[in-house]
Amino acid sequence: MTFDAVVVGAGIVGASVAYYLAEAGLRVGVLEAAPAPATGATARSAGGIRVQFSNPANARLSRESIEILKGFSDAFGVDPGYRPRGYLFLLPEGAWERWKGAMADLAAQGYPVELWDLGQARDRIEFDPAGLAGASFGPEDGVFDPPTVALAYLKAARERGARVLFEAPLIEAERRPGGWRLRTPREVIEAPLWVNAAGAWAGEVAGRAGYALPVTPYRRSIYLTAPAGARPGPLVVDAASGVYFRPEGARFLFGASNPDEPPGFREGVDPDWMVEVLVRAAERFPWFAELGIDRRSAWWGYYAETPDKNAVIGPVPGLEGAWVAAGFSGHGAQQAPAVGRRLADWIVSGRPGPLAPFGFSRLARGAGLREAGIV
Ligand SMILES: Cc1cc2nc3c(=O)[nH]c(=O)nc-3n(C[C@H](O)[C@H](O)[C@H](O)COP(=O)(O)OP(=O)(O)OC[C@H]3O[C@@H](n4cnc5c(N)ncnc54)[C@H](O)[C@@H]3O)c2cc1C
Repeated sequence: MTFDAVVVGAGIVGASVAYYLAEAGLRVGVLEAAPAPATGATARSAGGIRVQFSNPANARLSRESIEILKGFSDAFGVDPGYRPRGYLFLLPEGAWERWKGAMADLAAQGYPVELWDLGQARDRIEFDPAGLAGASFGPEDGVFDPPTVALAYLKAARERGARVLFEAPLIEAERRPGGWRLRTPREVIEAPLWVNAAGAWAGEVAGRAGYALPVTPYRRSIYLTAPAGARPGPLVVDAASGVYFRPEGARFLFGASNPDEPPGFREGVDPDWMVEVLVRAAERFPWFAELGIDRRSAWWGYYAETPDKNAVIGPVPGLEGAWVAAGFSGHGAQQAPAVGRRLADWIVSGRPGPLAPFGFSRLARGAGLREAGIV
C-alpha cells in the first residue's frame, strides 16, 4: 500500500490532520490501533473550548477552532455541539496581574474576553472570594463534542479518498531512500511522509521510528455529581485550587489535575483524588458540599504531556518526512480543528504559519512555551 501521507492515530487530532491533507489533494492513509476511531483522550475530555490562554499562540489556535466549529454544520452536515456557554476564570492574588495583562492584550486584539471584578463574577456564580483578586470571562468560550467532530472529519476525509485502517497499530517505522516504510501487524505501507498523532502514545510511536519525543501519559479523572438541577452555564475554573466544573445536563461535571499523579497508563478513576477535589471545591463553592456524587458516572483518560504542557507540532529534526502533532495536555480537543488545517498547510506549503511556536526547537533548546492557563 502506498500513500502520499500517513496519519498515525484516529483521535480528533489525527482525524483533523487527515481531513485537511485529503482536502489538499493528498492520498491519505490513517493507521489506528483501536477497532474504532476516537476512543482515546478524544472520548474522555470535558469538551471545553476557550480563547482564554495567556500565550497568544494557544489563544489563536482555539479562536481559529471556534471559527471552524461555527461553520462546521454547513461544511460537514454535522452539528459539532459547539455551545458558547462561556468560561469563567477566578484568579488568586499572586497570578492575577499576569493573567489580567494577558487577557487585556487578547481583548485589545479583538478576542472575546472580558475582565470582571469579583462582584460581577459572584453575580454569575456563588463562591467564597477569599484569596481571589479578579476574574475573566470568555463569552464565546464553551463546550463542543470532540468525538462527533473527529468522526465527521474522518468521514469527510474518506469521501476525499482517504483510507482508514483499524486494528492497525504502527509497530515499526523505517526511513528508506525517498520515504518511509511503516509496518502494522498486517500491512506494509510506503509513504514519503507520516504524522505521529498518537496522543498519549505518541512517545511510544516515536520510539518505533527511532526518535525521542518527550510526551508522557498522565491519568486524569472527571467526576460527576448526582442530578442537581444544574442549568446551562459557564465552565468555571478556580485557578487557586485547580478545580473546574460545568453543568452536564442536570449534573455538574468536575475535576482538577493531580500534580502528584505518577506518569504512565494507570487505569481506573482515582477515588482518593475525588475526595481532595471535593474538599477544594466545597471551600470555594460551599454549595458544592450539598451535592450528591454519582461515583459510577466518573471516567478517566490520559493527558499527553510535554515538559511545558504545550503541544509539539511540526517536522522531526533530522528525520525528513516524519511529523508530529501531539502533547496537547488538557487542551488538544479544542486545538485540533485549527491544528489539522494549519499542519496540512505547513506540510503542503512548507510554511509553519501560526504553528511555528510549537516546533521541536524549543524542546531541544530546553526553552518552554509559557502558558498560565493550563488546567
Ligand atoms: C479527563 C480529560 C479532560 C480533558 N478535557 C479537555 C477539554 O475540556 N478541552 C480540550 O480541548 N481538551 C481536553 N482534554 C484533552 C483532549 O482530550 C486531548 O488533548 C485530545 O483528545 C487529544 O487528541 P488526540 O487525537 O491527540 O489523542 P487521542 O484521542 O488519544 O487519539 C490518539 C489515537 O492514537 C491511537 N494510537 C495509539 N498508539 C497507536 C499506534 N501504535 N498506532 C496507531 N494508532 C495508535 C490511539 O488508539 C488513539 O485513538 C482532556 C483530556 C482528558 C483526559
